[in-house]
Amino acid sequence: MQAHDGMYIDGAWRPAAGGDTIEVVNPVDEQVIGRVPAGSAEDVDTAVRAARAALPGWAATPPAARAARLGALRDVLVARKDEIAETVTAELGSPLAFSQAVHAGVPIAVAGSYAELAATHAFEERIGNSTVHHEPVGVVGAITPWNYPLHQIVAKVAPALAAGCTVVLKPAEDTPLTAQLFAEAVHEAGVPAGVFNLVTGLGPVAGQALAEHEGVDLVSFTGSTAVGRHIGATAGGAVKRVALELGGKSANVILPSADLAKAVAVGVANVMSNSGQTCSAWTRMLVHRDQYDEAVDLAASAAAKYGDRIGPVVNAKQQARVRSYIEKGVAEGARLVTGGPESPYERGYFVSPTVFADVTSDMTIAQEEIFGPVLSLIRYEDQEDALRIANGTVYGLAGAVWAGDEAEAVAFARRLETGQVDINGGRFNPRAPFGGYKQSGVGRELGPHGLGEYLQTKSLQF
Ligand code: NAP
Ligand code: MG
Repeated sequence: MQAHDGMYIDGAWRPAAGGDTIEVVNPVDEQVIGRVPAGSAEDVDTAVRAARAALPGWAATPPAARAARLGALRDVLVARKDEIAETVTAELGSPLAFSQAVHAGVPIAVAGSYAELAATHAFEERIGNSTVHHEPVGVVGAITPWNYPLHQIVAKVAPALAAGCTVVLKPAEDTPLTAQLFAEAVHEAGVPAGVFNLVTGLGPVAGQALAEHEGVDLVSFTGSTAVGRHIGATAGGAVKRVALELGGKSANVILPSADLAKAVAVGVANVMSNSGQTCSAWTRMLVHRDQYDEAVDLAASAAAKYGDRIGPVVNAKQQARVRSYIEKGVAEGARLVTGGPESPYERGYFVSPTVFADVTSDMTIAQEEIFGPVLSLIRYEDQEDALRIANGTVYGLAGAVWAGDEAEAVAFARRLETGQVDINGGRFNPRAPFGGYKQSGVGRELGPHGLGEYLQTKSLQF
């Protein structure tokens, strides 16, 4: 793992304006594994100017040529797959096999999808006596979290570049090495100088400066609802486009006709994967009262098996936060069936895979995003009750429905207030729109809908 001591701006690694640095810590053993510069408003300004200067050239580059650069970027990510996985494992702590398959694998698929979309998308359409041109929005300020460090970056940068936008990225302070590796990959792929720029730094300093910068036309943010609300207000004040991917508290609804054992096993795996640090995780499992006790037993034994197979959470603060939610669950009367607030190891930011039974909708653990390996089992009386519980949070990012009959599951899914639903364990689709209803966000990422976020229309009448 090599840490750069500069910022990637205008096609080169340049020294930061100030001397502050961020220590990168491995959450498995709490050792410092690198240092990166903590960027200032001055660095952000330099990067935004570079992105503005590069905008006319990149916007005028034919889509097929932009597609070729994205295809090259995908190929570099493929060639450096092992290095990506090792870097994510070092700074996020996820098991290497998961880093290979998901943290490296998914961004490769997404970069590939945008190489193809850039080449095939209709950037011009005819409506009656008008020709409508789909033009790039301009300079994008991208602010990303640490939970899927490379995926969150690629899900913004790839569609932005496909659209003809230029980008300044401020990645999460906990996972900057993956972001530096991505900048190297962009450079190797032959993307012109200034089209993509990286400023590492702290959220309230570099992130804030980027969101506020007059030279930024669109702010695309993924992270907490609290910061998202603040960024949305800043962007609104400046009449800037904004895209927000925020938290979730998704429901996994198991209807009585479903294969219960399968639904519970997949549901537990979904929550424990990435140590529960997935905004779309199905953290509430809804089970009919007649099957409830059986589901609790199945979930408890499935979760216990994850004991030594999941990684830590990202940092000491998140560990303390997750453990305090577990304590709150106990205090509010939920029944702990496996796991608990004690840390399973002396070193590292680990949290035990935890399952709560007898959770009711009014409890904090049923309402707030925990972002750790914690599952809540909620009992429902009938389908209307299940629907009320499932829709009874401020969030609406994802969900799952299980039923013996696909049509029954679909009918229920259509009544959920949420942006995506997996039917009987449907697989993740990197081209399907991803984003939230309600307070889970504004806008969509991935596929053609994600590309649309970075385009604006110009109508010419004849
Ligand atoms: P966060 O604070 O919202 O961070 C997301 C990004 O925003 C990071 O790059 C962060 O920088 C930056 N940021 C922070 N304050 C900012 C500000 N005032 N202006 C501009 N940018 C700012 O989220 P977090 O600390 O990583 O995690 C906290 C909680 O967010 C989690 O427990 C979870 O509930 C939620 N979360 C959701 C998602 C999701 O995909 N929906 C992902 C991660 C986290 P720093 O890295 O320097 O803080
Ligand atoms: Mg933060």
